[in-house]
Amino acid sequence: MKAFPKINLHIHSTYSDGTNSIREIIDKSVKLGLDYICITDHFTNSWKADIIPSLDTKEKIEDYLYEISEIQQELTNNRQKLTLLKGIEVDITSSYDYITKMVSPKDFDIILFEYLQNNEGIGFIKNILLSWEKGLNLQKDDCLFGLAHFDPSYFEYSSLEILVNFLKEYNIFFEFNSTYPQFYSQRYKRFFTELRANQILVSIGCDSHSSSNLDNFEEPLEMIQFYGLELNFGRFIELLKLIKI
Ligand SMILES: [Zn+2]
Repeated sequence: MKAFPKINLHIHSTYSDGTNSIREIIDKSVKLGLDYICITDHFTNSWKADIIPSLDTKEKIEDYLYEISEIQQELTNNRQKLTLLKGIEVDITSSYDYITKMVSPKDFDIILFEYLQNNEGIGFIKNILLSWEKGLNLQKDDCLFGLAHFDPSYFEYSSLEILVNFLKEYNIFFEFNSTYPQFYSQRYKRFFTELRANQILVSIGCDSHSSSNLDNFEEPLEMIQFYGLELNFGRFIELLKLIKI
């Protein structure tokens, strides 16, 4: 397979339930020779908020973004090849008002939505995207949107077409998440065939909660090849290259 950049666009730091600071994640990523990483700490006010720390105040989100900006600047000044992106993982079982009031896609390069499991979830994400589009005059490519560790089994039989049309219309990517290999298992071949046929974007994220698994992208890369999704992945990489830091 042609050489793709080394990417891991799903990483948690001590701003939520990760065990390493952003600084430690960066140092390790530079050592590993990664090309693109994205810090995607949790955002939630559902049941999950009682269990894990998250980006739960405006001040905390500001500190988080500021720290990432500072490190981005350092990486540029030191001419490192690593590109650090600003992300957030939004739990869609949170309330609509909480998400739209607290999170602005103008501040992030990547927003991951987690727990899409039914058509109501599709409607919920659409409403959020529409609200952002209206309120913020969002331009195409201001921010990339994707599904975190999406489980195809929820849409396998009944609503696959609705799902794929949604991903296509809103340019939402599917994430090959190495922490959940069951979600890219061959039993979902039909789902991946649809992704290919509809040119749905695909990404790679390791859902790293410590710096020990920052480079677990070998298996996702193999599966991208197995399902013939190299073009989908290549198109996604081109979008990453367009992001202005
Ligand atoms: Zn995650």
